[in-house]
Amino acid sequence: MAEPDVVRMMREFGAGVLAEEEKQFAAMVKVWLEVERSLEGQMSALALEIERARDAGIMVSMEQVRKWERFQRLLGEAKREVTKYEKYAEVMISGRQKELVEAGWANAEEAVRLARPADWQEFIGALPVKALENMVGLGGDGSPLAALLAKASEDSGVGLMRSLTQAVALGWNPAKTARAMADGLAGGLDRALLIARTEQMRVLRESARMGYQSSGVVVQYKRIASISPRTCLACLLSDGQLYDVTTDFEEHPAGRCGLVPVVVGVAEPQWETGRQWLLNQPDAVQQDFMGVKAWEAWRVGEVTLDEMVTRHEDGVWGRYLTPTGITELLGRG
Ligand SMILES: [Zn+2]
Repeated sequence: MAEPDVVRMMREFGAGVLAEEEKQFAAMVKVWLEVERSLEGQMSALALEIERARDAGIMVSMEQVRKWERFQRLLGEAKREVTKYEKYAEVMISGRQKELVEAGWANAEEAVRLARPADWQEFIGALPVKALENMVGLGGDGSPLAALLAKASEDSGVGLMRSLTQAVALGWNPAKTARAMADGLAGGLDRALLIARTEQMRVLRESARMGYQSSGVVVQYKRIASISPRTCLACLLSDGQLYDVTTDFEEHPAGRCGLVPVVVGVAEPQWETGRQWLLNQPDAVQQDFMGVKAWEAWRVGEVTLDEMVTRHEDGVWGRYLTPTGITELLGRG
């Protein structure tokens, strides 16, 4: 099936956004490594102190380590460094949000023009300043990015403690212990990247949806997934689904789907949906996406593809969809 111009354009746009994101994430990882490096000496020193105590015949417990001055100093320093990183991430993410709100708006106009080339004269117009203010620097729950990013510090602290507790209990050598601490600390980085992906893509989609709405010629939109091995089953199976333009996009953290406009008086843009694509794949590929157990249940007719997608409605985070958990899926019926 040849894809309409608007669909091709949306796919290219989506790929461009992801390529930019990849560069941004590489930069964020690089700065994180500086955080790690600045704490390396203290983490190694603590790991050595644990070993020295053991060598001296002391049964080292986490309870004891917590009281050590060296540990307290490391914890304090880690908190300071990760908090600095949060500030950096906040500036980075809100800057990117601003760009994406503008890009989403411009892209919406381009998409409407492509979907309705013959008599399209009206332009969507300028992006309302209010829209920028309502989206940039905020998370999907309406709280400031800074508040969301504060969770990165918590994750770092929790990760560090978990690794250290394990290292002490299992008697790991100093090198392994120090490495585990750094890995635990990196929970903060993971959180920051998740927030970046989620909150940047959200404002991009919301801006596009608002653009469509303000065009006056778009009444519905179709969700479009980028199909790759990383695409989750829920997004794959919902590819091509129609929504009223006034309906918020149903996404989940880290989602990468986009919106194709359906213009009044023009046939709906069609493409091979993720569902159709999946049905044409060999068993092994279908199993990769569904999981073997769900695939087997589906093949014998115990569950449907629709049942593999669960819709959620959350008072704080809004509407989103996820793949149905295997326990819930097989417990159905
Ligand atoms: Zn998904």
